[in-house]
Amino acid sequence: MDFELSDAEKEFRDEVRAWLKANAPHDAEGGGDLKSFIERRRAWQKKLFDAGYVGMTWPEEYGGRGRSFMDQLIFNDEMILAHAPEPINVIGLGMGGPVVIAHGNDAQKKRYLEPLLSAEEIWCQGFSEPNAGSDLSGLQTRAEDQGDHYVVNGQKVWTTLAHVAKWCMLLARERKEANPRDGLTYLLVDMKSPGIEVRPLVQITGDAEFNEIFFKDVKVPKSQILGEAGQGWVVAMTTLLHERGTLGLALATRAQITASELAEHSRKLGLGADPLVRQKIAQHTIEARALQLNGYRAVTSVKRGGIPGPEGSILKLMWSELNQRMTETAMDIAGPAAQVGDGDGWKYQFLRSRANTIEAGTSEVLRNILAERVLGLPRSR
Ligand SMILES: Cc1cc2nc3c(=O)[nH]c(=O)nc-3n(C[C@H](O)[C@H](O)[C@H](O)COP(=O)(O)OP(=O)(O)OC[C@H]3O[C@@H](n4cnc5c(N)ncnc54)[C@H](O)[C@@H]3O)c2cc1C
Repeated sequence: MDFELSDAEKEFRDEVRAWLKANAPHDAEGGGDLKSFIERRRAWQKKLFDAGYVGMTWPEEYGGRGRSFMDQLIFNDEMILAHAPEPINVIGLGMGGPVVIAHGNDAQKKRYLEPLLSAEEIWCQGFSEPNAGSDLSGLQTRAEDQGDHYVVNGQKVWTTLAHVAKWCMLLARERKEANPRDGLTYLLVDMKSPGIEVRPLVQITGDAEFNEIFFKDVKVPKSQILGEAGQGWVVAMTTLLHERGTLGLALATRAQITASELAEHSRKLGLGADPLVRQKIAQHTIEARALQLNGYRAVTSVKRGGIPGPEGSILKLMWSELNQRMTETAMDIAGPAAQVGDGDGWKYQFLRSRANTIEAGTSEVLRNILAERVLGLPRSR
């Protein structure tokens, strides 16, 4: 990859830089009232969308901007420099949209993509169940064929944003087959449908960012199948590859923002000249940059095949462990003060980071994927 920007790219970078300087909000990452935090982030996404900075590489006919991946990377870098917050619809932008683009029909692309980009409709991912997490194919939520619609019964768990989402990417079992990966159907479920109950789960941070979802005789029209009926596993795998690749790229951006905030945090505490603190932060910054460069591999793979490759798992794995180390450093350098106040938001980030090595695939599972599918080592079982 050539890292030198062309004249047109430099012009675009300057335009984005000026826009972000004038428009990026400076709200704290976490804490406070979750509802107002979500609304602030929703408004921020709408503003980005109106300015043409969301769905930049998505097709223009569906609300995207049809721009190059290079423009997307320039934009990501400028977001870092501006310390700008992420848009609200992370799951929709990182997984929902890309999976509709890959497997949806024209009517579905027209229906779902634009409201997702403008944050009018938030998306959530209904995969995990009480007895199916890493081993997703063990899921038991049923989709019973009733002619022109399905009737869904079952339970999902850990569903991020389900309490504000309009659409759920639901993986359900239509038929029992010898291979548990067969007979699954991928449905886009309207979260306002009768029979859906969402119960919040409170995390260590005190926020209830994720939920349990109960489905009782929920009617889902067949027009809301994504891909082929009974072939949901393929669509689910595309979703997970994007979760770790496309979303991983956003995480690489996020890591650099965190590293620069950490440097700022140490300066505020008067520790900017402490050699041990400097070394630690320099090391985190180097790793965050290496992560970004690795992200370019995921981009290359998307450019070639439309879908990120299994090497996207490197991004998620490295980011989650680096993020935990960075937030630990933030707590360490603040000393006992970190335990009492909110430590400039770092206490929240430290607590939230504990889940990073579980969500979107645990570190153990990602290491298995990398060993088998990238390095070609024998299967573990
Ligand atoms: C903050 C957060 C947000 C989430 N959001 C969502 C969401 O929006 N939608 C959704 O569907 N899910 C979501 N999840 C669920 C997440 O995907 C699962 O927690 C994750 O896949 C692990 O599954 P599990 O919790 O059932 O653990 P298990 O799969 O039961 O794993 C338990 C332990 O066993 C280990 N293990 C399991 N299998 C193997 C193996 N083959 N080799 C080695 N070790 C193994 C794991 O690494 C782990 O340490 C979220 C989770 C968190 C923490």
